[in-house]
Amino acid sequence: MTESAVKKIAVFTSGGDAPGMNAALRAVVRTANHFNVECFGVWEGYNGLIKGEFIKMGPRSVKNIINKGGTILKSARSLEFKTKEGRQKAFENCQKAGIDGLVCIGGDGTFTGATIFNEEFGIKTIGIPGTIDNDIFGSDNTIGYDTALNTAMDAIDKIRDTATSHNRVFFVEVMGRDAGFIALNSGIAAGALDILIPERKDSIDDLFDTFDAAQKAGKSSSIVVVAECEKLGNIYGLAEATKNRFPDYDIRVAILGHIQRGGSPSCADRVLASRLGYGAVVGLMEGRTNVMAGLQANKLVFTPFREAIKKHNNINEDLLRISEILAI
Ligand code: ATP
Repeated sequence: MTESAVKKIAVFTSGGDAPGMNAALRAVVRTANHFNVECFGVWEGYNGLIKGEFIKMGPRSVKNIINKGGTILKSARSLEFKTKEGRQKAFENCQKAGIDGLVCIGGDGTFTGATIFNEEFGIKTIGIPGTIDNDIFGSDNTIGYDTALNTAMDAIDKIRDTATSHNRVFFVEVMGRDAGFIALNSGIAAGALDILIPERKDSIDDLFDTFDAAQKAGKSSSIVVVAECEKLGNIYGLAEATKNRFPDYDIRVAILGHIQRGGSPSCADRVLASRLGYGAVVGLMEGRTNVMAGLQANKLVFTPFREAIKKHNNINEDLLRISEILAI
């Protein structure tokens, strides 16, 4: 490799935490070490940049974390970084420490902050998509998504046991912010009767038709997976409307919540995090900036932050169709 474009880099985790962030951090630190680039960890996302909380990191600083959920550097949502004064402080701290490149592990808000920071002060920035929601363009999957999917699937499997035993109908809400990826895929994997996601225009009559069809087919219990941002309505409202239409149904609501963010990362997330952590450091060394490292069709690609933030991965229409066919 020709001479590296960066000599001292800092890495931080920002926004919502996601399983696999630690594996990405480990990959960044060890890749930097391999190529003789100095590496610092920043405490609590952009807050740490503003306070100048840098920790020198070497290969042993990231031992025993590949299998750990959450983030050892902690994450934060920093209001101060949204102000020019806050970013000015962050820049002065980077200058004092001699940092010429930043690796930001987070979601679209994190990348927006990094873009503005680069445009204002010129420090090179590269992103790694770490969010369970899979709502970032430029990588087929984001770090944490696969683990969250498996957690949701396991939880729905358990709900299925009780649903079957009592002939109940369960409405299960899963996370995903504005995207239905977790709902669609966990719903298919857990054999849901219906899956309600914001990318598709659902109607309450379609849902009732599905219940009618399920009844005719002899189904005695059912699970409906609802994305947290489903536009048709709030999960309790959906359950109530269904009860009004089918008074005999024994209906329950379960909101999976934050368990979907935690836990040991899956194999797929650890491998993805390792590849993107490596890719981010190599990208910075090659002089790239304001881009996100991602995997598309199993290849490392770099997507400009602005595109990664603005565009969205599309829901696979085939999956929607398959979910309907297999439900009954
Ligand atoms: P997730 O998708 O998990 O929520 P995220 O990275 O989108 O992750 P945010 O809270 O939206 O999470 O953003 C993380 C941080 O990025 C914010 O707390 C803030 O410090 C910084 N940030 C976001 N938007 C901006 C902005 N417009 N200008 C400067 N900084 C920003």
